[in-house]
Amino acid sequence: MDRYTELVHFDPCPGDPHRATSTPIYQTATFGREAADTEEGYDYTRSGNPTRTALEGQLARLENARHALAYASGMAALAGVARLLRPGDHVVAGSDVYGGTHRLLSRVLEPLGVAIARFPSHDADALAAALRRETKLVLVETPTNPLQQVADIAALSALCRAHGRARLAVDNTVLSPWLQRPLDLGADIVIHSATKHLSGHGDVTAGVVATNHEDVAERLAFHRNAEGNALAPFESWLLLRGTKTLGLRVERAQNAAERVAAFLAARPEIREVYFVGLPDHPGHTLHARQARGPGAVLSFTTGSVETSRRLCEALSLFTIAVSFGSLASTVSMPCAMSHASVPAADRTLPSDLVRLSIGIEGADDLCADLDRALVAATRADEGPATAGASRRAVVGAR
Ligand SMILES: *Cc1c(COP(=O)(O)O)cnc(C)c1O
Repeated sequence: MDRYTELVHFDPCPGDPHRATSTPIYQTATFGREAADTEEGYDYTRSGNPTRTALEGQLARLENARHALAYASGMAALAGVARLLRPGDHVVAGSDVYGGTHRLLSRVLEPLGVAIARFPSHDADALAAALRRETKLVLVETPTNPLQQVADIAALSALCRAHGRARLAVDNTVLSPWLQRPLDLGADIVIHSATKHLSGHGDVTAGVVATNHEDVAERLAFHRNAEGNALAPFESWLLLRGTKTLGLRVERAQNAAERVAAFLAARPEIREVYFVGLPDHPGHTLHARQARGPGAVLSFTTGSVETSRRLCEALSLFTIAVSFGSLASTVSMPCAMSHASVPAADRTLPSDLVRLSIGIEGADDLCADLDRALVAATRADEGPATAGASRRAVVGAR
């Protein structure tokens, strides 16, 4: 089946006597039974809910996985994967993983006795050197956010297989399964913050773990039920609705991102553009081999933190906000926002880095907005920022 067809043609509510064409929201905590001594079907929403089951079927199809589990957030999904580890185990993680992932590893797992090593995930030889007998998990993102370093999923997977006990987990949030399917490339586990492209409307926080391993799925489901961090019915419905337009949204935003990247790369005010879609990006060829496109997130530097800040505040079509993958474009300065929880010593990002998440607006409008803001931000005699003085980044305890 064509992938667009697959997104909208599935049984939305197996067994529903009314044959609703949209999955009902089973907004119930508990389910009645025929008899007191039977254990059939759904029981309690923490353990299972039909709306969530319909969503998980869709998520599994998307990742070409046998199992998918929906969580209350991307971090809850990552914490679920972390539950596969025991004190004494060793984890090797990409050195520029998401800030919240970095925090989970260094401030939750490490104090519990799980050793963490880091490696530049675009360098498979570095992984080979970092693997130890106790290594149980290798965790990477590709391309990384926001510097867009590309990991060779098949090569990392081969190293994990040769090792025997290490499982490869890929956080696929930046691209979404529309563009990249890590399980097909040999990964053991795929993780998503479904808050981003999968839901696509910026109106829900959710997370996903997908796998083909029976034992992994069973342990994840056990812990999710034991700890109660599954996705609620209404959020499951919102996310399921979002997935139906995943292809349309991602393709359109990606096309605009390619235009914006080319526009920025040609501008004298811009130092460096980090976008795997540009032919001179060091990971371009590898990425093109393992993914169907570069996605809709890109970053750049201006050479000055002050210029970057003024640029963000001079933009009018880009809301200053963390997160990405929503319908409307956003801009952020990762060092001050999404990656602020990474200690300065561990931070690998340029402080003048600006990240754009491209939405589904017209590319011409976005380029015109950037053009205007670049001129305003780099004007030599620029006084205190006025145009954007009322705009504030929401910087809290993420
Ligand atoms: C946002 C994000 C997360 C965390 O997901 P939440 O839904 O915010 O909890 C994890 N990994 C990556 C790559 C992300 O971008």
